[in-house]
Amino acid sequence: MTDRFGIVGGGVLGLGLALRLSALGHEVTVIDQADEIGGLASAWRIGDVTWDRHYHVTLATDDHLLALLEEIGLADEIEWHHTRTGVFAQGRLHSVSTPLELLRFPPLGLIDKVRLAATLVYAGRVRDWRRLESVPVATWLRRWSGRRTFDTFWRPLLESKLGEAYRDTSAAFIWATIQRLTAARRRGMTDETFGNVTGGYGRVFERFHQVLVERGVGFRLGSVVERVRRTGDAITIGLAGGETLEFDKVVVTAASPIAARMCEGLEPEETARLEAVRYLGIVCPSVLVRSELPDFYVTNITDPGLPFTGVINMAALVGDFDGASLVYLPRYVDPSSPLFEESDAAIEADFLAGLRRVFPQVAESDVIATRTSRVRAVMAVPALNYSDRVPTIETSVPGLYLASSANIINGTLNVNETLQLADRALELMT
Ligand SMILES: Cc1cc2nc3c(=O)[nH]c(=O)nc-3n(C[C@H](O)[C@H](O)[C@H](O)COP(=O)(O)OP(=O)(O)OC[C@H]3O[C@@H](n4cnc5c(N)ncnc54)[C@H](O)[C@@H]3O)c2cc1C
Repeated sequence: MTDRFGIVGGGVLGLGLALRLSALGHEVTVIDQADEIGGLASAWRIGDVTWDRHYHVTLATDDHLLALLEEIGLADEIEWHHTRTGVFAQGRLHSVSTPLELLRFPPLGLIDKVRLAATLVYAGRVRDWRRLESVPVATWLRRWSGRRTFDTFWRPLLESKLGEAYRDTSAAFIWATIQRLTAARRRGMTDETFGNVTGGYGRVFERFHQVLVERGVGFRLGSVVERVRRTGDAITIGLAGGETLEFDKVVVTAASPIAARMCEGLEPEETARLEAVRYLGIVCPSVLVRSELPDFYVTNITDPGLPFTGVINMAALVGDFDGASLVYLPRYVDPSSPLFEESDAAIEADFLAGLRRVFPQVAESDVIATRTSRVRAVMAVPALNYSDRVPTIETSVPGLYLASSANIINGTLNVNETLQLADRALELMT
């Protein structure tokens, strides 16, 4: 039997579901508040450059993503690059791109480095992540790497990925991160190799949209969903402005607190679970800059006092943008952070001053353009014992499903994991 499916959210998850559902013969409509598809991975314009609003790379082990690119005809457009990683520590830049360089990393003593290496090897070998879920990540890393290595190396990295929320995060988070980054090595690949589709995610979504339209998927972009509820045999979506759309089944892919607000008729326990998911937000200025920067794709920051928690130089991955570098300066923060209320100009002035501390060669006159992305609900904090509290995809309202990155329990936030989640949700919905 074929159903009429409404998908709230045209990000990777919504589009992945649309592809599968349309292949099964269902009638599918994707609804998104934005004027273009792609969500967190969408492209935008900065100066004369169109590139991802947030930085993205593909790993050679991202099997679900690579299969999708094959399916939509982009497999030939993937480029692979060797990349290098830096750390800004004690006021200096260090390369930590190879195990040997990591061993030379001056802020750590020899014993600290041995313990750090042992932690990485051990985490790469652990198979049962559930045991790690009840241990705070800071406790686990202090135990394996020692207090000094934790304070000088791990804590700044945790803060860079999780802000203050690292204190409530389980050791399963660092396990999943190390597993993702070492998967390529376990498959026998030796170098750090990252990939991207030529043209970035803008190109991916342009082609994805084309394929979905050819398969009969409908799009309602620029449409804010305010309400989702069951009325008789149908699920009704109420849009801002008063229009309603009717479907047999609806899947909401927006973040849990947003889903809790829009969905009516859920059991109080279901709503409470959705509202209890703690999220991290991001404030991420991008800067198009004329100076030549070191060829680190990621420069992690361990020095305190900088407004951002890492520097991502996209030019080190994909080459320069007409002679310029495209740099991202992310800061992961609590959704209630006062940073969300600050003006773009104030944020950009502060972050640019920080960029010049890391790369003094960047003159003010080198800055061609800046643009700041802010998202309050980017990822669910991988909290202690999260798998016991994760919201369910099936709901008590027949025909209403809720799937989002909050349903990723033993992985990190990435496109490959999101596509795996789409397959898991699909099984429950069809
Ligand atoms: C800074 C950053 C760096 C990243 N780097 C990488 C990387 O290197 N590699 C990698 O693989 N992944 C990376 N990711 C992760 C990747 O972007 C996500 O995994 C993926 O985009 C999640 O897709 P999604 O569909 O689950 O969510 P989203 O993209 O958030 O989609 C949800 C959609 O719902 C829509 N929506 C919400 N509320 C409403 C409403 N009321 N009405 C209508 N529509 C609504 C939103 O507009 C949005 O389009 C990164 C993410 C960030 C933020």
